[in-house]
Amino acid sequence: MKQTDGSYTIKAQNRTTYVLSSNSASVLNGGNVVQRSPSDGNITRWNLIPWESVHTDVYINWGLKTPEINILLANATAQNSTWRPIIEASASAWNNSGAGVDINVLTSGASNFEIYVNSVGETWYGATYPDSLDGSNNLIAGHIVLNTNKLSTEIAQSTTVHEIGHLLWLADNPSMTEQTIMSYNRNRKTMVKPQLYDIYNVRHRYD
Ligand SMILES: [Zn+2]
Repeated sequence: MKQTDGSYTIKAQNRTTYVLSSNSASVLNGGNVVQRSPSDGNITRWNLIPWESVHTDVYINWGLKTPEINILLANATAQNSTWRPIIEASASAWNNSGAGVDINVLTSGASNFEIYVNSVGETWYGATYPDSLDGSNNLIAGHIVLNTNKLSTEIAQSTTVHEIGHLLWLADNPSMTEQTIMSYNRNRKTMVKPQLYDIYNVRHRYD
């Protein structure tokens, strides 16, 4: 609710009432608001999305139980001096986003979660595979493939951040008008980090 002083108060279902000043809040859609701290840019408060307004197409039906994994660079191309920095920067983009996730990139050892960089005779840039799920559709194992047959390095980070979004339950949103890393219409050269909408949805999923 917009107050006479320009601030907003929001009471989400079963949640605390939050007060957001109008000049530091970003209205996303349907009155959903995220506030970033003016000092460090971190998200400090938000209204938690009322259940009835969650779009059914925001989430896929599987994802990580907790948003904290080790993910292994699983082949030589993934570990080379071109691709390793791109993948590490993509993980950092999520880790530093305020979404509350911790994606730790391994270059050796073993993990149930892996990234391969391969040339695949397909039309997609990247793909995420849910290899094993528990009874609640939480991922036990999964892997991402980045397809060098289609992918130039200048759009590789946007693609990798998108694929990590799938591990975090986010669905493709081909027709989404919000700024989101999950949109097919995004500018892959310039949108290289999770957007407020994505951060918000991941936080909501793990709230
Ligand atoms: Zn996708």
